[in-house]
Amino acid sequence: MDEKKIKKQLFRIAVLIISVSIAVSALVLTAFSYVVRQAHDSDHIQMKTETEEYESRILKQIDKNIQFLTSLAKAFEVNDITASMELIEKNISATNKTNSFVSMAYLSVDGSGLINSIEYGTKWKITLDDCDEYARTAIEKSFKGEDAVSKMFDSEIFDGKLFIYSVPVYRSGEIIGALAASDTLEIFEDIVNGNTVLDGQGYIHLLDSGGNFLVRSEHTIVKEDISSIFEGPYLSEKTQEKARAAIANRESMYGEFEYKGKKCHFYLAPIDLNGWYLFCANSMWGQALSFSRSVVILGVFLFFVLLAMFALLYYGYYRFRKNSALLIRFAYYDGVTGADNTLRFDQKTEEITKKQKDYCIAALNIHNFKCINDIFGTADGDRVLRFIKTKIEQSLKPDEFFCRDSADLFYIFLLDTDEAVLSERISSVIHDVREVTQHAVYSYEVSMYSGLSIRGTREQALVALQSIKHNLQTDIAFYDYSLHEMVRKKSDIESHMQLALQKNEFRLFLQSKRDLKTGKITGAEALVRWRLPDGSYRYPGEFIPLFESNGFSVKLDMYMVEQVCIQLRKWTDAGITPLPISVNQSKRLFANGNYPEEIEKIVRKYNISPSLITLEILEDIATSDTEQINHQINTLRKIGFRISMDDFGSGYSSLNMLYSLKIDELKLDRGFMRRVAGVDEERRKIILKQIISFAKKLGITTVAEGIETEEDRDNMAALSCDYGQGYFFDKPTEAEEFSRLYILK
Ligand code: C2E
Ligand code: MG
Ligand code: MG
Repeated sequence: MDEKKIKKQLFRIAVLIISVSIAVSALVLTAFSYVVRQAHDSDHIQMKTETEEYESRILKQIDKNIQFLTSLAKAFEVNDITASMELIEKNISATNKTNSFVSMAYLSVDGSGLINSIEYGTKWKITLDDCDEYARTAIEKSFKGEDAVSKMFDSEIFDGKLFIYSVPVYRSGEIIGALAASDTLEIFEDIVNGNTVLDGQGYIHLLDSGGNFLVRSEHTIVKEDISSIFEGPYLSEKTQEKARAAIANRESMYGEFEYKGKKCHFYLAPIDLNGWYLFCANSMWGQALSFSRSVVILGVFLFFVLLAMFALLYYGYYRFRKNSALLIRFAYYDGVTGADNTLRFDQKTEEITKKQKDYCIAALNIHNFKCINDIFGTADGDRVLRFIKTKIEQSLKPDEFFCRDSADLFYIFLLDTDEAVLSERISSVIHDVREVTQHAVYSYEVSMYSGLSIRGTREQALVALQSIKHNLQTDIAFYDYSLHEMVRKKSDIESHMQLALQKNEFRLFLQSKRDLKTGKITGAEALVRWRLPDGSYRYPGEFIPLFESNGFSVKLDMYMVEQVCIQLRKWTDAGITPLPISVNQSKRLFANGNYPEEIEKIVRKYNISPSLITLEILEDIATSDTEQINHQINTLRKIGFRISMDDFGSGYSSLNMLYSLKIDELKLDRGFMRRVAGVDEERRKIILKQIISFAKKLGITTVAEGIETEEDRDNMAALSCDYGQGYFFDKPTEAEEFSRLYILK
């Protein structure tokens, strides 16, 4: 995943979290407001139900009273009481004593009549005009055959407000008058005050058509003495307006008023009587929780929670981005030089190679970077790496890029495919690095080498690089399949060498060393062969250079010394005078101060005389610390080993070497032999002769390698070379076979 993708994902996560938070908040708010609305609605329904219940009770009471009067009027008709006013008075005053009416009256259709009240007795000869206007209206309705209930009026005979019921009185089916009874509002008070509503939290008042209280509950919420719902500051102007409109249209309405900071609900409903209204108020709403306020509080709370969540989210997002930036740095960049790392390099390569098919990948490495770290310290080593990074950077064209893998390994993606151009570009980087480090910074020449793979992979570039790892002559190598095979084989060898040693796959082969004059065997050279499980052999040229570079030669050489000792012991035990054997010893052994002791231990273990063993060293050993090498050689010689200088003349041999190193034998490289047979034969013969005679003077015996023909043998014998070794005499043979052929015969 690259940086862009991580950022995109981060953004998505943030959006998701924010959306979810908003959704959750909205959900909670919706749910809460739903609950509140439900509570609100059920509050309304309850008020309405209770109000309707009260209305029906009031109407029932009025109906009862009307029924009573109607029955009485019927009795008048049946008993023909209306013929005499006295009889009427007698009946009314008797009846009035048994009911709760304030007064009862009879008026005949001509407008004359009488009225009886318990308090004042009977008033005879009243007229319709003596009655209050509202009472008159009701009575006149009854003259027309209606049952009627009047509006409230101030009574002249009674201190307070009254209303009347009135019913028609018939004789022989004709209306002859009206029977009326007056009543106070107390009958409603019983009803309205009788039971509290809404579980004791609500109250019902009876209002007239002007919103004035006709009956006001004793337990009213608003304690102040007011005569109308519109009085005082309780109903807001808007609510008052709505209430007036509702009253004018005889409609019911829900509303709110506030009393002492408490919100209360009310329900105003017309009743089917005189344009009156019932006003139901509910204090519970405000008292219980002041729901709407709670909604606001919850809303504010949620808002702050949301705000805190956003803040947290932002902080988290910020930290995450910061950390991810750091992670991205760790994931994609090299901490030492700041260059990309291989992960990033591979990503870029993958991306660019989708379109761009002409490219080359170069691997660049320093020869012996370890030395720089060892000599100058890792801080300087890192400085060198940063310097190289800058140099590579400067050499790049647009769209080219590079990375540092581990240690001193860099990879460069180049947009060229021509070998000459590529060589030129890489050489210029190598040259620049060498120049600057040599003169200015370290006075240590940092030399680099590079492997390139055109249209290939990083791995192939590395294979090309490894193919010239120890080759100081070549700076640049291009990948091809044979290189791949070579590297594959190399890794195969390295992964099997330890096990092969344990399984005795390294076999001792012997090649005889002959006296050039007599042809007699005077010794043998131990040469290793790696016998693979399938019976085939690997030759030293395939693995010895590798073992020398990876250090395994130390183990193998000691193993071979032991194999030689075992062979010598076998011969000795068989009663045969053992043949001296030469063993090849790699340079690395000499770096170990205990080497002479260790090899002596092996020889002693098999009770073999060290004089039977010649240790062959290569001439390049002289390039190491001569003093230390000489010290080791002297120790070895003191123990009794003989020392031979192998392949003399193949490299940078010098006669000086014969002075400086105390050796017993000089093996002339077979290259001499080939050259001897060549064009400048005479000159070479002179040189060879000089070397041989020089060695002789120093008491060093000489061995000619690579005697392949009789002529070779004769030539070398003529030059006074002591011994010879080569295919002319025999090929290296498995030790047992060698014994059978030459020793045990
Ligand atoms: P060397 O020590 O110079 O051994 C002589 C090499 O020349 C041997 O190759 C041998 O087979 C080959 N040879 C002998 N006579 C002739 C001839 O007439 N013509 C030609 N063309 N070649 C001839 P080999 O066995 O392949 O070994 C190669 C080198 O590997 C050896 O060169 C030696 O340096 C190294 N080596 C072999 N065994 C060991 C070992 O056990 N330890 C170490 N460190 N190096 C070993
Ligand atoms: Mg040798
Ligand atoms: Mg040799």
